[in-house]
Amino acid sequence: MTKIKRMKKAYKKGFNLIEAYPVEFSETVILVKYDGPVDNFSFSFPDKKVEHIIVNLCPTEPWALPNRAVLRNRTHDFLNKLETVRSKYFPDSHCHVVVNHHEATLFNELNQYKAGANRIPPFAKGEYLHLHTIKPVYPYDAPVLIVKNILGLDIAFGQNAAEQGILLLDPQNVTGIFEYYIKENEFNTRLIPISGTGLKDNKILKVKPGTPLKRMLELYVRTDIKYRVFLDGLLNGAEVKDLTQKIDWSTRNIVVVEERDYKSLFPYTKVNELLFTTSLMGELRRCVYCNHCDDICPVNLEPALYWHCYDRGEKHKARTYALEKCIECGLCSFICPSKLELFQVIKECKSLK
Ligand code: SF4
Ligand code: SF4
Repeated sequence: MTKIKRMKKAYKKGFNLIEAYPVEFSETVILVKYDGPVDNFSFSFPDKKVEHIIVNLCPTEPWALPNRAVLRNRTHDFLNKLETVRSKYFPDSHCHVVVNHHEATLFNELNQYKAGANRIPPFAKGEYLHLHTIKPVYPYDAPVLIVKNILGLDIAFGQNAAEQGILLLDPQNVTGIFEYYIKENEFNTRLIPISGTGLKDNKILKVKPGTPLKRMLELYVRTDIKYRVFLDGLLNGAEVKDLTQKIDWSTRNIVVVEERDYKSLFPYTKVNELLFTTSLMGELRRCVYCNHCDDICPVNLEPALYWHCYDRGEKHKARTYALEKCIECGLCSFICPSKLELFQVIKECKSLK
């Protein structure tokens, strides 16, 4: 009964993946040794003056790096680094830190810091720092949505927010800029969470960018199964076929899923089945006009409409229904009970000249 209530609530506009399919990572961070050539840290500072910095501490995907791994119970230290980075490179900017509305302890720590922050001209005490809470609903932290929800501004999907004076700063890059450019310390590792049914256990790895995926995964993948590897999430990430591929400074996470050649009954009723099963196994059906895809789309599009255009061979017509507003979250494909490849179809229609 509880499960049904939870699903109903989550089905409207975005989906609370973290609540529906929680992923636990082991506490310890494991250093991956690699002696081959690695990529040095670098950060592309925007040319344009930064008016707003947004630091998102509210990941909305279960396979994303948990906050605790970045903050390491030292929220104050992290905020000190952020303040130093802001003062040196982006003076006069407002800094917006976004946290999960359930994380009261973190929010209180941020509030305490703000209250005790130094006076930094032109701001009075702590006034440069703005705290925001959001629900951890996927994909509320996507650039288009977070900029709209936090600043009330519109950016187009794929547009570099920096063109509008907005810097979306990855929490790990705050540390990187501080250590590498300000302290001039060596900074050559990135935290990468690995998770999924294709692994023996979910881990947080500390890795030098430039390390091949094979090196990262070899100790942790299950050897008794076939598996598939995805970079940056199951819903809209990229599948990797060649595990000699190296990770870089933009890699956010790795998901390894078991590839099954057997069916399980009612996979939708089994929490972990849905998240980590990728096999189609002949279940493709027609669109059943259930409207789940319309209900879940976070930017109010009607994904089924694109499917029907595509199905009728009218790919160009799909583009006349605000297709450019699609933020490529992949939720429509995820929710479709007929397993129609809506996301692939949308990308194909979008790419037409
Ligand atoms: S149409 Fe685009 S934005 Fe809407 S759910 Fe599908 S992928 Fe996401
Ligand atoms: S979710 Fe799938 S079956 Fe339902 S309306 Fe959308 S395309 Fe059709």
